[in-house]
Amino acid sequence: MLTTILYRSHLHDHVPIKTLEDMVAKANRKNKNSDVTGILLFDGLHFFQLLEGPRDAVQGIYQRICQDARHHNLVELMHDFAPERRFGKVGMELFDLREHDKDTVLQAVLDKGTSRYQLTYKDRALQFLRTFVVARDKENYFEIPPASTWEFIPDDEWLNELDDLDQSVQDCRFAFQPIIDPFARRVTSLEALIRTPNGGSPEEYFSAFGGEAIYHADIQSKRLAFNVASKLGIGEHRLSINLLPMSLVTVPNAVDFLLAEIKASGLVPQQVIVEVTENEIISRSDEFAAEVRKLKAAGISLALDDFGAGFAGLSLLSKFQPDKIKIDREIIRDVHKSGPKQAIMHAIIKCCASLEIAVIAEGVEQAEEWMWLEAAGISQFQGFLFAHPLLNGFPAVAWPEIK
Ligand code: C2E
Ligand code: MN
Ligand code: MN
Repeated sequence: MLTTILYRSHLHDHVPIKTLEDMVAKANRKNKNSDVTGILLFDGLHFFQLLEGPRDAVQGIYQRICQDARHHNLVELMHDFAPERRFGKVGMELFDLREHDKDTVLQAVLDKGTSRYQLTYKDRALQFLRTFVVARDKENYFEIPPASTWEFIPDDEWLNELDDLDQSVQDCRFAFQPIIDPFARRVTSLEALIRTPNGGSPEEYFSAFGGEAIYHADIQSKRLAFNVASKLGIGEHRLSINLLPMSLVTVPNAVDFLLAEIKASGLVPQQVIVEVTENEIISRSDEFAAEVRKLKAAGISLALDDFGAGFAGLSLLSKFQPDKIKIDREIIRDVHKSGPKQAIMHAIIKCCASLEIAVIAEGVEQAEEWMWLEAAGISQFQGFLFAHPLLNGFPAVAWPEIK
């Protein structure tokens, strides 16, 4: 199947532009042998390449291109299929945009093309090419320094573990993971994640219950979450708890129970954030909304968890605006390398700014993901890069520092 990959990247500072011609000649031969054709645009700083050919060959060449040390900040813009090639003449042709007049450069690029129809019917690949040539999108090309720029230095300030737990009354445990603002060096909240007494996952914990018992266990477990957080020294900091939306709806007086337990642990509702996952709210939404009103009236804030993972994201957001949105790891993973993920992130950030909703990126594992997200305007993060959840404790936080 004829596959198209489009990407953009930055030329590395130390690479003399002269060597590009040699590189292109070699790549041209190699691509031709694999039946891959395309065009490489260069504007003096950025590359934009279109690769077309059999699927495996295009993917193989793209993998090698990703490893090439002469450029960095590679972002895959498009990966798609087409009936015929747009640039079928040569394996790889370097087109230096600077050698052409501003008014004629686009036509000069298109003149290299070989397709008959795509020029008349709006084709995404050619639209990307146009956008690059007329430089419409460059404010979104973030210069991300290499991950090795940063060191992540664990700081024990928050580290605290309860070894002597008298939890005989509860059949669960909690692990805590911080949500942080790395540049402000501030823990913005600690999230309580439920575990089995042996440290097993939430899934394992809840699998022991059937039917509505899950919802009761969910609500009741929060007694321990508040209690342990208090013992660990949460003080006036914020505490995030997870609840199934149906737990609030199904369990009678769930909100009253939570408020009483918050008080009994010496906490205040204003420091508590309830996180709910989006894809479950939809059923019985009126009843859910009524419980949310009670939470908000008591001072508790609400976060929409795993935003972007479910199917109700945008329509839900149009009906109901939480205080915070946590963007699912599915969108965060490799965001620095993916054009579609970057476009989605820009849109979410803009939308949440208009609605004054705070955005948190969750599941951040790579320094490049974090740096890209900071550049895009996010300041709150959660993930293994900074801290793993710690059972019965608050973990140390690894703050980034420039080497
Ligand atoms: P969540 O609320 O989105 O919590 C984040 C999950 O991602 C946690 O998994 C955490 O350990 C994991 N995580 C954090 N940073 C990273 C990272 O950098 N990379 C990766 N790959 N994973 C990361 P965990 O503890 O297994 O929890 C899974 C889910 O179970 C939670 O997702 C939450 O939806 C649910 N859950 C946890 N505690 C409770 C609870 O008390 N009640 C209810 N109803 N659900 C809970
Ligand atoms: Mn959560
Ligand atoms: Mn989540």
